[in-house]
Amino acid sequence: MPTILAVLALSLPAHPQAGAVSAKAREIQNSAIVIDTHADTPQRFLDENYDIGSTDPNDRGHISLDKAKAGNLGAEFFSIWVEPETNQGHFARHTLDLIDSVYEQAARHPERMMMAFSVEDIERAHREHKLAALLGIEGGHSIENDIRLLRDYYRLGVRYMTLSWSNTNEFADSSGDINDPRVEHHNGLTEGGKKIVLEMNRLGMLVDISHVADKTFWDTIAVTEAPVIASHSSARALTNHPRNMTDDMLRAVAKNGGVVQVNFYSAFVDENYRKAADAQSKERDAAVKAHIEGLRAAGKTPTYLDSDRIEREWAAKIPRPPMSSLIDHIDHIAKVAGIDHVGLGSDFDGVSGATPQGIDSAADLPKITQALLDRGYSADDIRKILGGNILRVFGEAELVSRKLQATAEQK
Ligand SMILES: [Zn+2]
Repeated sequence: MPTILAVLALSLPAHPQAGAVSAKAREIQNSAIVIDTHADTPQRFLDENYDIGSTDPNDRGHISLDKAKAGNLGAEFFSIWVEPETNQGHFARHTLDLIDSVYEQAARHPERMMMAFSVEDIERAHREHKLAALLGIEGGHSIENDIRLLRDYYRLGVRYMTLSWSNTNEFADSSGDINDPRVEHHNGLTEGGKKIVLEMNRLGMLVDISHVADKTFWDTIAVTEAPVIASHSSARALTNHPRNMTDDMLRAVAKNGGVVQVNFYSAFVDENYRKAADAQSKERDAAVKAHIEGLRAAGKTPTYLDSDRIEREWAAKIPRPPMSSLIDHIDHIAKVAGIDHVGLGSDFDGVSGATPQGIDSAADLPKITQALLDRGYSADDIRKILGGNILRVFGEAELVSRKLQATAEQK
């Protein structure tokens, strides 16, 4: 019945499959400098000896050079995250090992990837069709309460630091343990923490408020001289998770000139998923703990990948949310904070595979562009979300740094 098939084909809508990318969306994607501000792939580089040049079709990772190319990802901030339990007593060493792992990947693939430390580097990488690799520390515990280590990390190329991870450290309260009475808290940011924020401003290291407790956020906003970023946080009005930002916080970041980079993690972007994940948390955490303790008893040193394996099994029990949940967060932040204050902070390779339907790797980023087009966003606005905004904020932080250093010289 060829005729009937032809008629059927003609009557299909312009975007027959969910997640299909039109020529227009593809064109916008390819004309943008696409920047993602959070991927945990360094855990794989270090623990798994994963090579970013991998072409393995069965690899379930979110980032490879091929996947980045397919999504026209231009720059990635690789997360330097030191798991505080398993690395007790040697946070700095593990920080340095992770930093090294990113440099080693760039050295292996000089034709397709380069280390980047500035706006100019990101733009150069874009012109040379290379993936710009940047470094962001996730968790102030990495500096071991030593401002000199902070400066050393800057010299090694680190360009953002989240003031805390899920653990409260010596100078900043975290959203991850703020209700845990066993943890000693500071009511936000300590005086030392304020000095660290100002030193980051002076150095030109972006102050990242993802993961911090609400009071830490407000203390940081009050003291910072440069625009801040949330490298991977979503909106609490839509998904009620303490890792997400309230509308008041979104407006404060807008006033500060900063940017909120939306996290893709299903439990941060979909309220039903969050509730389901929350309901299984006790059993899941016990299973992870038992697995880790079993490895220790067998004389092995557990890594992130060991807990990730169990986390994935539990994540697979909950249906993935639709991609529209993720787009709702981008849309909400664009409406509340403004189009100049929203971007992408995927948390790729850090969420045990729990991303919305259709988002399986960096290759799927053009689907976000398509979804924004479908909601009426203009090409210029989409390019801001894809990377223009974070590039502007990074440039402003560089400018503030130069000004602060010039003033210091005059004194
Ligand atoms: Zn994180």
